[in-house]
Amino acid sequence: MMRSVSQIVDAQETSDGAGVRLKRSIGTRELDALDPFLLLDEFGSDRADDYLAGFPDHPHRGFETVTYMLAGSMRHQDHKGNRGDLVAGSVQWMTAGRGIVHSEMPQQKDGLMRGFQLWVNLPAKDKMCEPRYQDIPPERIPEVSRPDGTRIRVIAGEAEGVPGAVNGIVTQPLYLDVTLPPGLRFEQALPTGHTAFVYVFEGEATFGVTDGEPGTLLRPSQLGVLAEGEGVAAATAGSPVRFLLLAAQPLREPVARSGPFVMNTRDEIHQAVRDFQNGTFLD
Ligand code: FE
Repeated sequence: MMRSVSQIVDAQETSDGAGVRLKRSIGTRELDALDPFLLLDEFGSDRADDYLAGFPDHPHRGFETVTYMLAGSMRHQDHKGNRGDLVAGSVQWMTAGRGIVHSEMPQQKDGLMRGFQLWVNLPAKDKMCEPRYQDIPPERIPEVSRPDGTRIRVIAGEAEGVPGAVNGIVTQPLYLDVTLPPGLRFEQALPTGHTAFVYVFEGEATFGVTDGEPGTLLRPSQLGVLAEGEGVAAATAGSPVRFLLLAAQPLREPVARSGPFVMNTRDEIHQAVRDFQNGTFLD
């Protein structure tokens, strides 16, 4: 059976870091989490004031952060001297594990800055793993292009037999950026039992088309949670659409969350705060 849309979430305007304006859909009052996904932010502005302050030094422990840039450029720098420029079309999958302290700062003073940040939880057994980075430049993200104009960037997982750029992630994620011209249909298989959602950021389409069900129309900055099933179908009418399609294996573990720390228990959160304050966070 194909998946239908079980919930629509409108992204909320908020700000984070040193005052970066963004739209948050997961990690809100309406949708606290979507196991194993903890947060989804869309940032997009051509007003420097909305992004210039960036994300100065901050820690992470116990989960993964995924930055996907559509436009603009951000410099990433961590406590170990790892540094990289996230340019338009690139992705950084950062497994924070036991601890990363880093900054993410815009490398432009004007122009469009656009992209997404996703947080993916780690299971208890991996929360204290060694940090790992996968920095993928734009040309290394495989792309499926059909003659009808459909375009699928395969960031993680697999689409039409094409494996994604990111690998070795414990929750076996699928992360696709799909562009669908007007009047077309798109289908993607999804592992049964995996959490899945779509997030529209341009145009509109009907998602969760099943036998006998017309599906649900989603517009920009709307997230559609997908119900259980084997795959998902989407259809465009008069407009094109561009959306993210994500899926991953749920962890079904207790979540204790405080700002940049996501652990299983309150004690582990207190330990993370102590480690950070004592300077032992990165030992
Ligand atoms: Fe960060």
